[in-house]
Amino acid sequence: MTSSFLHPDLKFDQEHVWHPYSSMTEPSPVWPVVSAHGVRLRLDDGRELIDGMASWWCAVHGYNHPALNQALITQAEQMSHVMFGGLTHAPAIELARRLVAMTPEGLDKVFIADTGSVSVEVAIKMAIQYQQARGEGKRTKLLALERGYHGDTLGAMSVCDPQRGMHHLFSGMLPQQFFAPPPQTRFGDTWDAQDCAELRSILEQHHSSIAALILEPIVQGAGGMRFYHPQYLREARALCDQYGVLLIADEIATGFGRSGKLFACEHADIVPDIICLGKAITGGYMSLAATLTTTKVAETISQGDAGCFMHGPTFMGNPLACRVACASLDLLLENDWQTQVQRLEAGLKQGLAAARAMPGVADVRVLGGIGVIEMVDPIDTAKLQPKCVERGIWVRPFANNFYVMPPYVMPDEDLQYLTSAMLEALQAYFDEVSPS
Ligand SMILES: *Cc1c(COP(=O)(O)O)cnc(C)c1O
Repeated sequence: MTSSFLHPDLKFDQEHVWHPYSSMTEPSPVWPVVSAHGVRLRLDDGRELIDGMASWWCAVHGYNHPALNQALITQAEQMSHVMFGGLTHAPAIELARRLVAMTPEGLDKVFIADTGSVSVEVAIKMAIQYQQARGEGKRTKLLALERGYHGDTLGAMSVCDPQRGMHHLFSGMLPQQFFAPPPQTRFGDTWDAQDCAELRSILEQHHSSIAALILEPIVQGAGGMRFYHPQYLREARALCDQYGVLLIADEIATGFGRSGKLFACEHADIVPDIICLGKAITGGYMSLAATLTTTKVAETISQGDAGCFMHGPTFMGNPLACRVACASLDLLLENDWQTQVQRLEAGLKQGLAAARAMPGVADVRVLGGIGVIEMVDPIDTAKLQPKCVERGIWVRPFANNFYVMPPYVMPDEDLQYLTSAMLEALQAYFDEVSPS
């Protein structure tokens, strides 16, 4: 049908369009998608794929949602955008009101950013300005965790895992940060007090040059899909307080229910000094993020030399994005996200368990709406992904992990289909790469 029409487009795509982490000389395959509704992506040849990725954690309510569509249309008819310097508007105010109300107690000052990475840059700048303003100008470094991921812009990149990330390519220009080993005690296992020893010792020795500790609470996402013990967070919170270091929680992936709590910090009952939110905030409709901090941090920054916080993107507070975010957060509560995510958790546990017995599988783990099959060896995505598409599912493996975080609205029968098709695709993949 339409594929004959798309063919020259695909060629143009290959020759001219960068995709995430793509090569212009050996482009990896891409599938043209023409529409999406509910939990399904429709390809140009008419095939439909059940979506296991929620477009990288974002599309929690599924695609083409009438309430989210309507929020955009209504807002577009009023104003799509105005500058945020010297002006304000209801969509931004209402979004900030919702975020203050739903995030952990005390995170009361909202900076609306345009992408997750920018919200991390904003968090880092807040920490530096805060330390300067309280006469701690030597605290110019960040402390981060190995296996962490915080985004692709330069400041964010400097706090990503130094070995597995992109550090070595850019090390000449990146600020050098401190890194602690990743938490080892898994979520649900018995806490090992040694797990924080290195973090403690780095803070003991170097706190006078450290502005903030940045980490992904409970779930280390792109750096390995690792789920760690809440006690690590409690210890980290206490150490930060002890050493005058701010705690930045990057909840860009975990925020808005994905880990089984509305925010992953709640697994440990801690409140960070700064929280970064993004991804699911607009239900996958538009790029938007936010950095929230406490009154204390915000007031200290504002009383510093600069007299203000030094950041202000062109599209800050974009009304379309804020309006659709408000609608998405309302849906989250109306739909009872907790029940939705618990249902996903049960379905993923049941559906993925059989992978444990497959040779080549190192681990299977599920937390909230996240299901992970970890392989012994890195996955050849170019081989495994087509096997998923052939079976009518959209899953994009990364490094050693074959993982899903489906839209919260996925019905049980689709979830069952998704997980069983994953296991079939994996078996076919093993048959191809390591025939016994
Ligand atoms: C995706 C992600 C980011 C970066 O967000 P972008 O919107 O891609 O810039 C940062 N931190 C975490 C934990 C993420 O998952």
